[in-house]
Amino acid sequence: MAKANFETPELKQYIEVPSIVEGAMAHSKCFVAKPEHQADLNFPGEKVENWKEVAIDKMGDLLSRYRSFQVFLDACVKCGSCTDKCHYFLGTKDPKNMPVGRQDLLRKVYRRYFTFAGKYFPKLVGAVDLTDEVIDEWYSYFHQCSQCRRCSVFCPYGIDTAEISMAAREILDSIGIGQKYCNEIIAKVFKIGNNLGLPGPALADTLEGLEEDVFYDTEVAVKYPLDQKGAEILLITPSADFFAEPHVDGLIGYGKVFHEAGVSWTLSSYASEAANFGMFIGSYENMRRVSLRIRKAALDLGVKRIVFGECGHAWRVAYSFLNTLAGPFDFLDPNYPVPQHICEFTWNEIQKGTLELDKSENDDMTLTFHDSCNVARATRMGDKPGGQFEIPRNVIKAVCNNYYDMEWDTIHERTFCCGGGGGLLTDDLMEIRVKGALPRMEAFQNVMDERGVTHMAAICAICKSQFTKVLPYYGMDMFQIVSVHQLVSNAIVLNRKTAPEDAPGYGEDDDE
Ligand code: SF4
Ligand code: SF4
Repeated sequence: MAKANFETPELKQYIEVPSIVEGAMAHSKCFVAKPEHQADLNFPGEKVENWKEVAIDKMGDLLSRYRSFQVFLDACVKCGSCTDKCHYFLGTKDPKNMPVGRQDLLRKVYRRYFTFAGKYFPKLVGAVDLTDEVIDEWYSYFHQCSQCRRCSVFCPYGIDTAEISMAAREILDSIGIGQKYCNEIIAKVFKIGNNLGLPGPALADTLEGLEEDVFYDTEVAVKYPLDQKGAEILLITPSADFFAEPHVDGLIGYGKVFHEAGVSWTLSSYASEAANFGMFIGSYENMRRVSLRIRKAALDLGVKRIVFGECGHAWRVAYSFLNTLAGPFDFLDPNYPVPQHICEFTWNEIQKGTLELDKSENDDMTLTFHDSCNVARATRMGDKPGGQFEIPRNVIKAVCNNYYDMEWDTIHERTFCCGGGGGLLTDDLMEIRVKGALPRMEAFQNVMDERGVTHMAAICAICKSQFTKVLPYYGMDMFQIVSVHQLVSNAIVLNRKTAPEDAPGYGEDDDE
């Protein structure tokens, strides 16, 4: 690991509210998008000449389109309930990382141009002009918010800083100051189909390699099909599942579950990405363009169901918005939810008794579960409130003997972000990522000390990548983070045997 030019916070037994340090993270700036990345998303390539006018117009446009945005800007009474609830404040001590401090960066400009008091008595209401300095501050601090929504759980008015942060990023994009990481990735999805820029033939090779690996381990020809027309299920999964660790072990698990359930399924080379970074930049238009690829793939392949793999914000976009962004999905089988989460699918199969599971295969681990923010606070699973907390835990407990939850105030709807969500999973933001992971690391350390927990399971590609990177900063091992379906994969007994001709590479030597 490269030597960091910042100090990793010290782990304490309990989360401590720090004394504030003004400007502690003012230096944090992620790379700005290049003109070509901006153009791909229909944003100006560089800061436009009349940027002030464009930004204020854009703010007015967002205020007229999203009632919640204006309510959030008007409703805050400065009660302070949210001040110690953001992991980035707890990890950095910077008061502008307090949710209310972050909101005020935008609120003071809103007041200046959109309220009577702000227009005529700006000093009285803390209203300020939009200046280059304000834009710089927005760029810095609105890229120190992972849009996790934890603060909204504690705000008596339900003010959602995530929405304010999305609006700020959209305004920045509209004047030509986008974030390189997010915008470059969205453009790759438009051009190639996934965040990684992995073209169809490379994806086919990767899946063939997985089939060989699974066959080598199990002597069962589990298939990982691509672009298979007429399959029952289209699996939309984060592209990190195709190669990253521990993500790929989860993908192996999904394939084994489908195999044992006896359903046909396929991935799509056209819609080979579950992630939708359009949400992170607050852009409805870009979020819709990404979502429409899923609709097209489902229609082209003639599937009856859509199942999403382990990805937190993808599940938020899918669960909360997919039907309105890209629906109606009236061509799918109405007997199943549109869409369905892989944990719901697996839990249904477990309840039906389709899967034989040998829990002892995971006895080398004692597990805990990290509720990913977007799943916890912006979605549901199953048909009961709280299903998004219960179903992943039910799956884990069905495949593992040893499981303990972390402290109650760090899980479920109070869960702490991994520190890398919301478009922050980039190396140019490593300091904020490491510091923002502090509360989760403290809760994990506690359950390791008190319960002997060894591993943390997650159902989010970003959480998995983030923890792999930041665990070592806190003296832990990167392999302590695992995929939920990796645990399923370990425990599942493959009873559906396959014919010799189904084996990978069968008959390939015949012509030699
Ligand atoms: S949404 Fe999350 S990251 Fe953003 S201010 Fe609230 S708690 Fe902090
Ligand atoms: S909890 Fe809500 S009302 Fe109170 S300071 Fe924070 S944002 Fe404002």
